[in-house]
Amino acid sequence: VHEGILRRQSLRESAARTYARSLPIVPVRARGLTIEGADGRRYLDCLSGAGTLALGHNHPVVLEAIRKVLDSGAPLHVLDLATPVKDAFITELFSTLPSGLADNGRVQFCSPAGTDAVEAALKLVRTATGRKGLLAFTGAYHGMTAGSLDASGGAEDVRVTRLPYPHSYRCPFGTGGEHGAELAARWTENLLDDPKSGVTTPAGMILEPVQGEGGVIPAPDSWMRRMRRITADRSIPLIADEVQTGVGRTGAFWAVEHSGIVPDVMVLSKAIGGSLPLAVVVYRDDLDAWQPGAHAGTFRGNQLAMAAGTATLAYVRKNGLAERAAVLGARMLDQLRELTAEHPCVGDVRGRGLMIGLELVAPEASGRQPAEAPPADPALAVAVQRECLRRGLIVELGGRDSAVVRLLPPLTLTDEQAMAVLDRLADALAAATR
Ligand code: PMP
Repeated sequence: VHEGILRRQSLRESAARTYARSLPIVPVRARGLTIEGADGRRYLDCLSGAGTLALGHNHPVVLEAIRKVLDSGAPLHVLDLATPVKDAFITELFSTLPSGLADNGRVQFCSPAGTDAVEAALKLVRTATGRKGLLAFTGAYHGMTAGSLDASGGAEDVRVTRLPYPHSYRCPFGTGGEHGAELAARWTENLLDDPKSGVTTPAGMILEPVQGEGGVIPAPDSWMRRMRRITADRSIPLIADEVQTGVGRTGAFWAVEHSGIVPDVMVLSKAIGGSLPLAVVVYRDDLDAWQPGAHAGTFRGNQLAMAAGTATLAYVRKNGLAERAAVLGARMLDQLRELTAEHPCVGDVRGRGLMIGLELVAPEASGRQPAEAPPADPALAVAVQRECLRRGLIVELGGRDSAVVRLLPPLTLTDEQAMAVLDRLADALAAATR
């Protein structure tokens, strides 16, 4: 069964398949952290639907919320009409938002993926300001549709000015830490204030509080506050893309809370739908310059996703799972640093909450300056991922050089499960470097 399904799907599906190439498993059952394959093997899933499954697979409160809607006879598809299910979602969502948006915000339901909500946010700030340009950051990931792709790190587009993201390990200024972040902030100020830079006041700035796909790079809180000040002083709306960092993932309900800033716009998806597709933009009321119908989309009202999302948000909030992610994540980072101390190929261990990354490097490479980080080793990352899978552990790769092993476990991870994950990862690392 297992082999047949893999073979048929690899023949029929596009060459753009990603996860299926590196993770040749056929999931048939799942609960919490565990996935069971068609071949009967069990895996600890630290990919969690690319960070979507805050409560793990098939959490009882999520299933119950979905069943309740199904059994109630409520319509499943109603465009953007008002419903009790949507009412409950909005109430729960607003109860979690930073004050400033909670008191004074609006929500736009979008077509259901993160990239759709990014598009809506970019369009919103362009509409509200009447400007076109955009500030985004090196290494960013905002999605795969035209506008969000432009804002992402690798794309080239004249309307987007790409600024250095503070990256301690591979600091563009060669200093790292708070000083590197300070220089990155000054670069930004200079571009905006120097009339000869060619950068006119943009429609908005979009940033991730922790870059996820870019390689799990947490921005310093001081830099976040600086970006808030730079944008506020120049009336540039600040968009926080919390598609991946939201709903407790980084150890705060929303990652912007770490620095205490309130963005003008927040883009939310992944975990807010409790494992079903849902995406929204939340923004300051005075940016609501749209006419009715100015932003549409058929699938803006998925009732099952809203119900699953309400249950997830409420569960994370009531059970303090963000605080739990902060404590457990910090402990896992410490343990990972210990476990990998004897592996020079682990160049950096970093993260925030339960968003964790290990950057694999080739420490022996010749021709580099002593102060430079060694070159990334994407082939070793692939080998580690393969060895993890052999040991029943699913991890994701990412990063600018595809050399970062990423862990995005559910926030319900127990201490014992965390130990099991780290043990398997350490074994895999040893095997891949033997
Ligand atoms: N923004 C961020 C920060 C993301 O991590 C992602 C997805 N990894 C997206 C946007 C795009 O979301 P989607 O894949 O649902 O379109």
